[in-house]
This record gives sequence, C-alpha cells and structure tokens, in this order.
Amino acid sequence: MTVSLGLPAMPGRAPGATVDTALPPRPAEATGLLDRFGRVATDLRVSLTDKCNLRCTYCMPAEGLPALPRDQALSADEIVRVVGIAVRDLGVRQVRFTGGEPLLRRDLVEIISRVAALEPRPEVSLTTNAIGLAERARSLADAGLDRVNVSLDSLHAATFMQVTRRPFLDRVLAGVDAAAAAGLTPVKINAVLLPGVNDHEAPELLAWALQNGHELRFIEQMPLDADRSWDRASFITARDVRGLLADRFDLTTAVEPRDGAPAELFDVHPRHAADAHLAGRVGIIASVTEPFCDDCRRTRLTAEGSVRSCLFSHTETGLRDALRDGASDDDLAELWRGAMWAKPAGHGLADPDFVQPDRTMSAIGG
Ligand code: SAM
Ligand code: SF4
Repeated sequence: MTVSLGLPAMPGRAPGATVDTALPPRPAEATGLLDRFGRVATDLRVSLTDKCNLRCTYCMPAEGLPALPRDQALSADEIVRVVGIAVRDLGVRQVRFTGGEPLLRRDLVEIISRVAALEPRPEVSLTTNAIGLAERARSLADAGLDRVNVSLDSLHAATFMQVTRRPFLDRVLAGVDAAAAAGLTPVKINAVLLPGVNDHEAPELLAWALQNGHELRFIEQMPLDADRSWDRASFITARDVRGLLADRFDLTTAVEPRDGAPAELFDVHPRHAADAHLAGRVGIIASVTEPFCDDCRRTRLTAEGSVRSCLFSHTETGLRDALRDGASDDDLAELWRGAMWAKPAGHGLADPDFVQPDRTMSAIGG
C-alpha cells in the first residue's frame, strides 16, 4: 500500500541503504508508519532472541555469535507493550515472530496469546526452524498462532547437516508434521538453495511440499551471513530456481495480485504422468534479483528493542531505553514513526558500493 502525500517519487534506481539524504519534514497528519517515499508499513517482524540451535552457513558462523545479555533483551511485558502500540496506534496488521530461533523463548506461548488478544487483533505468525515445534505446535495454535513458516533446505540428513551444521533433520520434519496436525495450515516451507550443496534438491523439495500440502518458498540467498560468504556471481537466483525445476514442473504466474507479499507465486504443473497428483503453488522470493522494495510494507523490531526500517539498514532506532526510562506510548509511537520516515528507498544490493550490514540475519530477525 502506498499513499500519495506529495512525497518524492521512488527513484528508478534504489539509492542504497547507506545513503542518508536530508529528510523532508514528516506530514503531521500521518499517524501510521509512513516513509518519505509514500510506503506504509503494516507488517511487523519481531525478533524474540538472537540465539539459535542451528548454525546455517548462510546465516551464522560455526562457532555461533556472542549472545545478547538477558537484561538487554525485551521481556514478554515489554514486547507485548511495544507490539500493542504498533497495532493500536501505528496501523500494524500482521505480526511475525522470528529470531534467532523464537522457539528458544520459554515464554513464547505467553507472548503469542497476549499479542493475539490485542485489539484490533493482528494476524500472528511464526518463522522457525521447527526444532521443538513437535512438542509445542498444539499449545501455540491454542494460544492464537495463525500461521507458521518452517525453514528447511534439505530432506537428506547429510545435506541438512552440511547446511545447518547440526544433525536435527528428524526433529524438523516432526515439527512440520505437528504444525500441520495442529491446524497451522498451510505450513509454509522456506528453502535457501546453495550452489553445489542443495540446489539439485529443488524439484524433490517441491514434490515433497506439494505431496504433503505445504507451500514451498525458495528464497534467494542475501548477504546477511556472518562468514561473508555470499557471492554475487554464484548465488542461486530466482531464474536459476525456475531452471532447476523445469525438467519436472512447468510454472505459470498465479493470477492473484501480489499485494505486497515478498514471494512471487506460481501455479505448478507437473510434466510427467507419475507426478500428476502434485498440484499446487510455489513461491520464489527474489529479494536480490527482482527486489520488491518499492512495495515494502515491513518494519522490524530486534530482540533488544530497536526498530530497523530495512533488513539492510546501517542504522537503528532504540526503543528499549526510552521504554525503561518511562516513555509514554505516544513517545514510543513517535520514535517509531521517525525511524520509518527515514527508511531508505531500497536495499541497494545492485550498487557496486553496497556495504553488507554488520548484523547477521540471526541478529536482525529474518
Ligand atoms: N531461525 C528461524 C528460521 O530459520 O526459520 C527464524 C529466523 S531465520 C533468520 C528466518 C529466515 O531467514 C529463514 O527462513 C532463513 O532461511 C532466512 N535466512 C537466513 N539467512 C538468510 C540469508 N543470508 N539469505 C536469505 N535468507 C536467509
Ligand atoms: Fe538459526 Fe534460522 Fe539462522 Fe538457521 S536461518 S542459523 S535456524 S536463525
């Protein structure tokens, strides 16, 4: 959604997250999370922790990262208060909990039930690696969780181990089954393909997802890893994904409007009689090669309570200290509006002088 307030048009070429141009004044009548390019954020990603029990090579280093001290992370009360401000005062309609690994928060069920009880009720979803989901899917659904995205890059134990550096494939698959059984359907599966590691598995992953009624999304790898291993010349692009699937599946663009969603959806048509029962959809998230920045509706809150207007931001606006110093809801809402007003036009990945943010995906909240 964009609003016209006489604001500067989106430039044809995204100027990159590092560019800090002088900001025009923010219109006083804008109550929501409007930015200077006319976009309005209604989709909030909340990182509940920076800790994780996997070490996916495209995200965390093998040795892990220093964890945020407990007193620096927002408490359940603080999260619910801040999300409440977003929902009541700032027009947020969708809240997705992520991390790090959000299932590592013992108070996750409490947080979800309190956020699902907010008025107006937001849509509440979770992005997870599904380790421990088998035990908690039912209580999360009962608490008000609407949807779940599970990250799964391989159906083979050895490849799963190579990507995540942990031998937990069975636990992830059990978590996916439990989510489906708890009615968190359709379960969305997020897969990142890495060249020479799991890219050959693309058709098998799609067949498995369709067979089981899950919705698969392939995500282009982005430069948000700790090892700085992202290689512009060799990561698997959306076009590569379509090529990898082509022997087994034809894809046609789905008719529904994209409506701000990161994934471009395709209807899947099996090419071989043996696959005739495999009908459904697949999504491809081409954040790098086909950026959707000019329709971005996202705002992010890190585990320590800082607003990031973009995954690739080099700046953040801390809410935690103000909150702990007694700031009112209005003060916090105003800080948040200011942070979003400064949102860059685009992530700038195409710029030759693009600079990767210091924080990894696990520390931002993907
Ligand atoms: N631990 C949870 C999980 O893996 O689902 C939630 C956090 S994780 C950072 C959220 C999503 O970000 C996952 O689907 C993961 O595949 C994706 N992700 C992490 N690093 C990425 C990268 N460098 N490029 C693209 N996607 C990435
Ligand atoms: Fe953990 Fe998710 Fe990052 Fe993998 S992608 S290391 S599961 S935070």
